[in-house]
Amino acid sequence: MPRILVAEDEHRIASFVEKGLRAAGYGVETVADGVDALTIARSGDVDLVLLDLGLPGIDGLEVLRRLREGGSGVPVIILTARDSAADTVAGFEGGANDYVAKPFRFDELLARVRARLLDARQQQGAAPVQALDCGRVSLDLRTRRITSDAGTFDLSAREYALAEEFMRNPEQVLSREQLLSRVWGLDFDPGSNVVDVYVRYLRRKIGAEHLKTVRGMGYRFTGEP
Ligand code: CA
Repeated sequence: MPRILVAEDEHRIASFVEKGLRAAGYGVETVADGVDALTIARSGDVDLVLLDLGLPGIDGLEVLRRLREGGSGVPVIILTARDSAADTVAGFEGGANDYVAKPFRFDELLARVRARLLDARQQQGAAPVQALDCGRVSLDLRTRRITSDAGTFDLSAREYALAEEFMRNPEQVLSREQLLSRVWGLDFDPGSNVVDVYVRYLRRKIGAEHLKTVRGMGYRFTGEP
């Protein structure tokens, strides 16, 4: 459960935001001054900070500046009055990820929270997937080459799309109609045997044992024949 720090000294707003976030499934910590906000944001125990600018103790922009100075990359969404554009600009320069102008609707705030949490997860996430591995077959998503016991081969654009479709659905029977739709973008069978032809091309490159014909139904890819 992602944890959110709400740093807001207006009790009414803090309580409204906290209730909404809890109802949306988040853990919430609420503080009403900048010193506490900085301490908790720095602790690494929260996944996102909602930061009011006008806080007692240390103001929001200073909290943000110190937080970034200390190397914290925790996503920060600034809560700011609609007429303080200058503050908002300063907030972005100080390393804010987003801002929401007060007064705001809760669903608007929630949408921002979700989006910034998603950004953060994507940034922290492992390097993007570079290969699809299925048993003894590996499809390199950058070079578009396929490797199996048969060797390593370049694939044409259509062969690649077909191989990817099979390898994302291993051990499943895919019908000609499904393959025509997903790989060729055709919602109808043009009456050609284009799927069978490309399955043959692919079999030559990875070995027929990986691509079984399921009579009357279609084809099934298996990584471990
Ligand atoms: Ca305030």
